[in-house]
Amino acid sequence: MTLGLDDEALVACVACGLCLPHCPTYRVTGLEIASPRGRIAAMRAVQSDAAAIGVEFETAMEECVQCRACEAACPSGVPFGQLMEGARAALYRDHPRGHSSIRRVLEWFGYRVVLPRRWLLQTLTWPLLAAQRLHLVPRRFGVSRISVPSLLRPLPGAAPLHADVILFTGCVMNAWQRDVHRDALRVMRAAGAVPAVSDRRASCCGALHLHAGRADEARALARRVIVHLPGDEPIVVDSAGCGAAMKDYGTLLGTPEAAAFAARVCDFSEWLVARPPLDLVVSGRSVVVQDPCHLQHVQHAADAVHGVLARAYAVVGTDDDGLCCGAGGVYAAAQPRLAGEIRDRKVAAIRAAAGDASVLVASANPGCAMHLGAAGLDVRHPAELLADALMDSTP
Ligand code: SF4
Ligand code: SF4
Repeated sequence: MTLGLDDEALVACVACGLCLPHCPTYRVTGLEIASPRGRIAAMRAVQSDAAAIGVEFETAMEECVQCRACEAACPSGVPFGQLMEGARAALYRDHPRGHSSIRRVLEWFGYRVVLPRRWLLQTLTWPLLAAQRLHLVPRRFGVSRISVPSLLRPLPGAAPLHADVILFTGCVMNAWQRDVHRDALRVMRAAGAVPAVSDRRASCCGALHLHAGRADEARALARRVIVHLPGDEPIVVDSAGCGAAMKDYGTLLGTPEAAAFAARVCDFSEWLVARPPLDLVVSGRSVVVQDPCHLQHVQHAADAVHGVLARAYAVVGTDDDGLCCGAGGVYAAAQPRLAGEIRDRKVAAIRAAAGDASVLVASANPGCAMHLGAAGLDVRHPAELLADALMDSTP
């Protein structure tokens, strides 16, 4: 079996090892096969030397968080994200998975049935909420506390024709963290914009599908998002993982329309930092900023979060070189042991950064927020923190 990867990208790795300290799975295991260099060598062995695909290869690919810290650190410019997405797509497409039937059914139900249908996700959120109230949802799943009033109240937004910016509301976040969108809209209005919310048919962006190797499904979802968000207004995304995927639609679909759409996408803080400063109450409270990998290494927009929060809070960074927290899409559910070990390091770095102060954490990615929240941290989205600090009474 060939993985269908770009040979030039594969041979670009010179095995220097400079990426190793940045790799969360290598840091917790110390194993070469759990490092970027080891994973690339394994891909090369399959693609170029016709090595058989075995459990070790599959495990090495599946245990990668796809944080892309290695890509940012690599002096040879190895496009690791592209290689890993290609390897996962090949495994999904051509290689019978060794997973249990229950896991396969759950994946099919989640990726194929629920995520593309916002109405179904919303409907299933009610029994999830009931289970949450009965303490039946294990804490390690990291599902944030879902609010009944929030679920019942639709998001306010201008009619698309009158709007000068669109807030992309997505799938899971729209169901489970709608209050973040509410606060983002409030901050955007306070910044002088007239925001509309995205068309409900442009729901799932396909980022989770792409991570899982379900490339055709990701492409179909990307096409649907593009069709249902016409126009040329900026599209603001308050989920770092979704924003990273949408900024990459040009590469994913390979069309001029997709590239033009991707150019409209910006992260919430990236959009906000370019506007005149908001009127904020300076609280001076310390906030430890967790830089989500897809904001830091893919969107290169992590500084914007620090910039907008610094106008109202005492912003503190961690001294772990922005190491991944272990959330990685559905990684926390699929690889709970490794995700937990990676998170332990992150939590320790966050607590060290906070010192004696009570720990308030800012995260611009819902997955990271839920994963760190499951470890007992108080994690808020930058939009929530800024909405709290707004001086005016913008609704
Ligand atoms: S993407 Fe992240 S987890 Fe995967 S090899 Fe690179 S640094 Fe390690
Ligand atoms: S991926 Fe880049 S940094 Fe890592 S070993 Fe290969 S060349 Fe070196």
